[in-house]
Amino acid sequence: IEALDVERIREDFPILERTVGDDVPLVYLDNGATSQTPKQVVESIVDYYYGYNANVHRGVHQLSQEASIAYEEAHDRVAEFIGAAGREEIVFTKNTTEAMNLVAYAWGMEELGPGDEVVLTEMEHHASLVTWQQVAKRTGATAKYIPIDEDGLLDMDAAADLITDDTKMVSAVHVSNTLGTVNPVSDLADLAHEHDAYAFIDGAQAVPTRPVDVGAIDADFYAFSGHKMAGPTGIGVLYGKEAILDEMQPYLYGGDMIRKVTYEDATWNDLPWKFEAGTPLIAQAVGLDAAIDYLDDIGMERIQRHEERLARYAYERLGEFEDVDIYGPSPDQGRGGLVAFNVGSVHAHDLASIVNDHGVAIRAGDHCTQPLHDTLGVAASARASFYIYNTEEEVDVLVEAIDDARQLFA
Ligand code: PMP
Repeated sequence: IEALDVERIREDFPILERTVGDDVPLVYLDNGATSQTPKQVVESIVDYYYGYNANVHRGVHQLSQEASIAYEEAHDRVAEFIGAAGREEIVFTKNTTEAMNLVAYAWGMEELGPGDEVVLTEMEHHASLVTWQQVAKRTGATAKYIPIDEDGLLDMDAAADLITDDTKMVSAVHVSNTLGTVNPVSDLADLAHEHDAYAFIDGAQAVPTRPVDVGAIDADFYAFSGHKMAGPTGIGVLYGKEAILDEMQPYLYGGDMIRKVTYEDATWNDLPWKFEAGTPLIAQAVGLDAAIDYLDDIGMERIQRHEERLARYAYERLGEFEDVDIYGPSPDQGRGGLVAFNVGSVHAHDLASIVNDHGVAIRAGDHCTQPLHDTLGVAASARASFYIYNTEEEVDVLVEAIDDARQLFA
């Protein structure tokens, strides 16, 4: 597989030319939180607002028809990109978190009760962990957690024991945003299905960085966010198998999601519109469509190789310092394009702040995985996460900046 032409790609991202602080070049390594947006995506949104901005689904006038077609076709584009059967299975939400909550409310609050179990992993993001934990509390169900081993890999023997006939939902992150672990999500879905449970896969870190086929995984639900995949903020995707979405009650009520309304009752629109109440995120859908075109043109397999190469390089370079602890599996065990670490007793926030003086943007904190940090025995960590425009030279800048911080705090 041919390597990415990073210099060419960087030309599409004007923000990468800016400087920060004392006029030092920006090195943006916080892509796990939010990726940057290429001109092509911004221009698609400009074209929408300048050319055919209108509300969807209801107008006979030409602008509304053009906006409706673009909005609906964005669903088709997403479906094709992740291997879903069609637009019926693609619900646009605000983000991954809202996709999770949609299922927790529309399905979990209805279907869960005392004696039922939701099985999560110890490395869940708060988006799924807090959501299922609280729905379990409200319904009398129990949340259980598949443990990780010392390499940050899921203990699949424990998973096979924890997932039983009491399990109603298995909710697992595809690529951990803290450990970088790539979980065997199709095995987890198989385990869930052996016990007539559903599998919800959190693909927030996976869809931006590798080819994903929801059919091959056999996920019942799968979620991700536009803003981590070169798309705009404000849009996320819930994939759900059509038969399951069909059975589920709506999550939000209002306009557009209905078919027939009387003073006494209402019936629901076809999928996916049944789950998209009110005026939806039209401009964001146009932008997400353009982001998928952009990533697809580069090629998801090439993007995955690039991510893995940078993660390996960062893992090896940071590993040269004996006081650096890196969390999660080694590159040989498989690792997504991010590295979370600590340096001796230096607080992660101090690290990030010194690194920031070198122009390097990394994240410090618990990365929305507080219980996982408890398991790791640390309060916080620093995290560098890579995307299509990052280079090994930028990793070198990070490593020098980390070394600087080590000296300062030594
Ligand atoms: N899951 C994972 C694994 C994530 O990395 C994130 C973003 N940090 C989320 C869920 C939540 O995404 P969002 O904030 O877009 O809802």
